[in-house]
Amino acid sequence: MTLSRRDFLGAGAAAAATAVVSGKAAAGLVEVVDRSLSAGASRATRPVVVASSNGLRGVARAYEMLTRDNADTLDAAIAGVNIQELDPEDQSVGLGGLPNADGVVQLDASCMHGPTKRAGAVAALEDIATPSLVAKAVMDYTDHVMLVGAGAKKFALQMGFQEQNLLTEESRQDWLRWRACLSSGDNWLDHTDPVVIKFHTGTINMIALNAAGDVSTVTTTSGLSWKIPGRVGDSPIIGAGQYCDNLVGGAGTTGRGEAVIKACASFLTVEHMRQGMAPEQACLKTLERIVAMTETRLLDERDRPRFDVDFYAVSKDGRFGSASIYSGSRFAVADATGARRVESAYLFPRAERPRTPRPACVPQAG
Ligand code: ASP
Repeated sequence: MTLSRRDFLGAGAAAAATAVVSGKAAAGLVEVVDRSLSAGASRATRPVVVASSNGLRGVARAYEMLTRDNADTLDAAIAGVNIQELDPEDQSVGLGGLPNADGVVQLDASCMHGPTKRAGAVAALEDIATPSLVAKAVMDYTDHVMLVGAGAKKFALQMGFQEQNLLTEESRQDWLRWRACLSSGDNWLDHTDPVVIKFHTGTINMIALNAAGDVSTVTTTSGLSWKIPGRVGDSPIIGAGQYCDNLVGGAGTTGRGEAVIKACASFLTVEHMRQGMAPEQACLKTLERIVAMTETRLLDERDRPRFDVDFYAVSKDGRFGSASIYSGSRFAVADATGARRVESAYLFPRAERPRTPRPACVPQAG
């Protein structure tokens, strides 16, 4: 298989310096589409906070904590992702996350604190809305790195976290639609509302670097929707869903976790930066490895994946970047210029992405 960056480089040059500022500017959160910022190494800036696209409010909060309160980098990053974890409208994480095949919300999260070289994680955690904070509690209060399932929940309750039902009515209805569409031969009738079934991915990763060059990372998610109960993705796995080394920088990811786990991909991205690559280049290099590691059943006739993965990275000197397998992704960044979304670099144009057939759900008449 041969991979070319021709498309990426061409698109970057053509669209350089294109900036579109939306009405969110009034709220202090600027949506910027600017290929020139992502076509190559960004300039170094500290402090800086980078996140997946859904982290726009989060990077603003984390950046403010770093600059105004001189907050710890992990505290700032976790406060940033807490916004999405507690937002019932973000169906990819925390409260309101899409459930597993049994209709149960199971959450994964992990974090790393660069300055003290510590890490914590939880997987398949139920009924606690902020798994990022439980992961940090594992790091702060135990000699372990990861707790899972019932043990993770018991630990969270012992640490004073509140138990709550995380399945919102919207997510429950989405689960019912998915369930009704599984088979025409089972005992579930079609859903009355023929809305397109969501095969939803989503997650939030955040990387915070302060003025002194300390870095921390966190990733939190409800994982792939409709997953087999007990399935654990990349997000809670140190070195897969996120990784940082205070000497080098931090990296994290969203997208198909199974592909990320096999490539130890966040660790690999940090190692690429250790070898001297700029963050964006490191992300692209990791994505090439993920593509190279993809099993045949998940490749199209051009040997391109039938899924997407996004990477985010920040180097210790304050450069940042992001890349995805297919074009069209953006990421959130906050620095002295403000909080904004920036287009990610990519390996292939999205227009060439193979469409995965989805089951049609036809409502039952009468
Ligand atoms: N990486 C997450 C997982 O595989 C899902 C996502 O980011 O969309 O659990």
